[in-house]
Amino acid sequence: MTDIQNNLVQVKKKICQCCEKSFRGENEVRLLAVSKTKPVEDIIVAYNSGQLAFGENYVQEGIEKIRYFENQHIHLEWHFIGPLQSNKTRLVAENFDWIQTVDRIKIADRLNEQRPHFKLPLNVLIQINISNEQSKSGIHPSEMLGLAKHIGNLPHLKLRGLMAIPEPTEDITQQELAFAKMNDLFTQLREAFPQLQIDTLSMGMTDDMSSAIKHGSTMVRIGTAIFGRRDYSN
Ligand SMILES: *Cc1c(COP(=O)(O)O)cnc(C)c1O
Repeated sequence: MTDIQNNLVQVKKKICQCCEKSFRGENEVRLLAVSKTKPVEDIIVAYNSGQLAFGENYVQEGIEKIRYFENQHIHLEWHFIGPLQSNKTRLVAENFDWIQTVDRIKIADRLNEQRPHFKLPLNVLIQINISNEQSKSGIHPSEMLGLAKHIGNLPHLKLRGLMAIPEPTEDITQQELAFAKMNDLFTQLREAFPQLQIDTLSMGMTDDMSSAIKHGSTMVRIGTAIFGRRDYSN
């Protein structure tokens, strides 16, 4: 087996173990393979091992990969997980299946306008700035319900839940606190909008997936543990 195939097996095994420990069903947590900076060859290996959902952070790079697989008639599910500027919304609306980083009404409105009507609505997660970091994207928790209400009324977007990237920390208590807060917000959101299909709490990366699953994550976004370290030099 290649490294990537083997890594995928290990990551899935770890997800199962985390689910078991938390008395959760192993199918409650989806695996998003984060392929940013990695070549299509690596994605093909993952695809051949059964992985269908991939996350990309950079619009242009993501679109090149999406086009490649479209041309091969291979249908994958593409998630945009990077910060999005308003001049790039059209490319995301036209090419991706999900966007996990919506944090402004203006961005949501543009995506809604630009989503092609022949496609299914674009799946949306609201990004929460859960560690309250100055420099980070995401909204303050107090703004969640207002933004959700707005998105819930846009016909070409489909609100599916929340996403967060907590501040990395060695302090496990601190780390778990952030995930627990996210889980509370997720419950609030579902209770406020029972008519919407709010089913996704995207949190947990290579270094913190265990805590995230313990606190209710339904989608972990894993890059390094599947594809190896990233090289940003090119
Ligand atoms: C890069 C990235 C990941 C994957 O991180 P790893 O630590 O490599 O697993 C997950 N989520 C987001 C938003 C990212 O930018």
